[in-house]
Amino acid sequence: MLRPIQLFPALTDTVNVRYKVIFLNNVFTFAGLVSLAMSVIRWNTNPFLGKVDLLFACAAFILLWILHRHHKMVELIASIALWLCFVQFLIVFFLANGNPTRSGLLLLILASAFYLKGRQAGYSMLAIILALVVGNHLSGLFPSEFKNLDILSLGFYMLAQFFIIHNYESLRETQTSHLKALNANLEALVKQRTEQLAAVNSALEKEKENLTRLSSTDHLTGLSNRHHFENVFAEYSPATRGKTSDALILIDIDNFKKINDTYGHVLGDKVLKSVAACIKKHSRASDITVRWGGDELIVYAPRTSLKQAYQLAEKMRKQIHLLDITEIDTITISAGVAVLQAGDTLSHLLHRADNALYEAKQAGRNNVYSAALG
Ligand code: GH3
Ligand code: MG
Repeated sequence: MLRPIQLFPALTDTVNVRYKVIFLNNVFTFAGLVSLAMSVIRWNTNPFLGKVDLLFACAAFILLWILHRHHKMVELIASIALWLCFVQFLIVFFLANGNPTRSGLLLLILASAFYLKGRQAGYSMLAIILALVVGNHLSGLFPSEFKNLDILSLGFYMLAQFFIIHNYESLRETQTSHLKALNANLEALVKQRTEQLAAVNSALEKEKENLTRLSSTDHLTGLSNRHHFENVFAEYSPATRGKTSDALILIDIDNFKKINDTYGHVLGDKVLKSVAACIKKHSRASDITVRWGGDELIVYAPRTSLKQAYQLAEKMRKQIHLLDITEIDTITISAGVAVLQAGDTLSHLLHRADNALYEAKQAGRNNVYSAALG
């Protein structure tokens, strides 16, 4: 396939930038000093070339200075340097007949072109220089002391350089592409494993949430179960306990045994569910609604006074009374309300609420009673 010849294209590989800066730094320092020395040496013998050398020395030092200040311009500076070297080569090779630095300059340009700008640029430079040298020899445009044999050996010399660099570059490219492929495989594998791990993790997380929910929920009513409420209460800091005014409403369905006996357990369950739903509906998000056991339910209401809790229990009692379950005339509940006091344990609090509930039942059911503040 024919590819357009690109002279000095910018390589995108940023890893190379650092090395290019170091390389150019050395080349400019060395070339600047050599050009300066050459300028002094032949200032009298060949004033033109002396001035040319001085000019190149200045260019090398200026580029060195720019390079130090603007590392990011390394590609542009490399291109300028290569073109300058090329011009210097043209002058030295064709105008300074018998100059001993000619072949050395040739090698410097070619090696730099390959190193700084990659294969394409190196090959192009090699072809251009070879064409110029051979073309000049054949045409005799600029007088040269080179004989046919010299040109032939120079050609072989450049060809040898071409093969050495070609082999080296091919090897490097093969290794690079092999490494890239390995890297891509590894990345794909890591990505795949990460995704698998994330999927497993989220499934586990969901399962954990599910289990936590199941272990803390009463499956019939959907309210918190006794075990969960006891845990939550136990986690309550003793310092907080009794400081805020928390209230507990203990609710018991009236004559529930009779409902079960008359209409059966299935309907009994339905009643339980309806009562639980009604309680949940009329409690706040911060309240904990619990199925304590059997037909006993609890509403634990943080930051609620006895009076407020009583009103809440009354509201719930009235709403439950309004529940419409076809088979049953009315459903009523009784409730006992108590507030948390300093030093209270859960059983202290429950005991007071239970006493109040007992009074409510005694007073004929469908009632709310508050425990006296101790
Ligand atoms: P009281 O007004 O004094 O509370 O009378 P009661 O009949 O409601 O008496 P009690 O509260 O002691 O009765 C609770 C009954 O609740 C006993 C039991 O058969 C019934 N029960 C407990 N758990 C369930 C349940 O999951 N489903 C059904 N359908 N009934 C239950
Ligand atoms: Mg009951």
